[in-house]
Amino acid sequence: MSLVFRGFFMLLCTTQFCTRMTVKKKDIRALTKDQLRDFFVSQGDKAFRGNQVYEWLWQKAAHSFDDMTNISKQTRQMLEDNFVINHIKVDSMQRSKDGTVKNAVRLHDGLIVESVLIPTKTRTTACVSSQVGCSLDCKFCATASLKQMRNLNPDEIYDQVVAIDKESKLYHNRPLSNIVFMGMGEPLMNYNNVIKAIDKITSPEGLGMSPKRITVSTSGVPKMIKKMADDAVKFHLAVSLHSAIDTVRTSIMPFNTTFPLKDLKEALEYWYAKTNRMVSYEYIIWKGINDSQKDIDALVAFCKQVPCKVNIIEYNPIDDGEFQQASGEVLNNYIYALERNRIIVNVRRSRGKDIDAACGQLANKS
Ligand code: SAH
Repeated sequence: MSLVFRGFFMLLCTTQFCTRMTVKKKDIRALTKDQLRDFFVSQGDKAFRGNQVYEWLWQKAAHSFDDMTNISKQTRQMLEDNFVINHIKVDSMQRSKDGTVKNAVRLHDGLIVESVLIPTKTRTTACVSSQVGCSLDCKFCATASLKQMRNLNPDEIYDQVVAIDKESKLYHNRPLSNIVFMGMGEPLMNYNNVIKAIDKITSPEGLGMSPKRITVSTSGVPKMIKKMADDAVKFHLAVSLHSAIDTVRTSIMPFNTTFPLKDLKEALEYWYAKTNRMVSYEYIIWKGINDSQKDIDALVAFCKQVPCKVNIIEYNPIDDGEFQQASGEVLNNYIYALERNRIIVNVRRSRGKDIDAACGQLANKS
């Protein structure tokens, strides 16, 4: 009796398992080109069909199998029966008076991330997200308020770039020229997927963009900075520094307790030794937080360790006034001290503030 029961139970489990298997189709873009070619061969078709479909999926960024017009209807149906294309959907788009465009992007599981198109006279830059929400809790960043978090897949990162490239052509008559990973999330905590996305973005089988036009910005995960150096990546590295004094940095970026400045410094030295490429530091100056001469001296000393440039960025208020941009006088003191020490410094104005699209303002408000 118990055996019969067990048999019935097993049958039930197997049936449920099978049902789930048929319902949950595989994301076709998780397959490599070789896997796709093998799949077609296993279906009695030519491996070459895999190349054609791969081209539709990446270079032509097809949203559905029906878009694949040089593939027979029967084959498209077979693909439909086996796979899904988990394409992102631009749910809403806001345009700033300065030309900045912000996309609220819906993922296949209903979660939302944001990405931004930033036009200037000479370039159009896509600012893309790497995670849903962020785990880092930087006190001055709106994204930190979003608790829900998962990593974005390579195709979800890639699709954000494709969507912005289309908007760039539509609104500014030119393709996208640069990409910065400065949207939601910490790219180095989703390293593998970010690297896979960049591979597709830079590959001639994808968007064919130069890695020199891509910047990955991190709060500073030492182990992963070293890994990037070992992997000999070709894109730029930016570090959100904001203070070169541990106690100050920890108070605004609690993650500095785990990864203190001495570890960051060591990782950056390793990066430079291996890649011979300078690092950019992002730095915001706040009233009462990092506006003293001691803060300035610490930054100058930190900058002397590894060849670098400093981008001073405007603070975009996100809260009730706990953080306030320091005065122009303090800004000038910083610039003076850095330049006197032959450290390159740029001051970056914010874009898209009126639509909450500026740095640190991405919080799915729309
Ligand atoms: N986690 C990554 C990338 C996302 S943040 C990183 O920390 O670099 C992108 C940039 O926006 C970072 O330099 C970050 O410090 C900055 N930022 C965050 N909140 C901001 C705000 N309210 N105003 C201006 N810049 C902000």
